[in-house]
Amino acid sequence: MAYSYACADCEGMESCPGKVVAETENELWQLLALHAKLAHDENASAWDDKTRTYLKTLVKVV
Ligand SMILES: [Zn+2]
Repeated sequence: MAYSYACADCEGMESCPGKVVAETENELWQLLALHAKLAHDENASAWDDKTRTYLKTLVKVV
């Protein structure tokens, strides 16, 4: 079992090929934060609850 996140699923990120897969949800969020920083210059610690809740709906268990 793994957790997967495809950036293109996120509203406004349709053109991003970034994908993150990790064994645990915790690792996934850390990789996601790193991707957001490197690819989109977004600071994950600035995400509010609404953003996190939305992103959570995009995480798939694979
Ligand atoms: Zn991305």
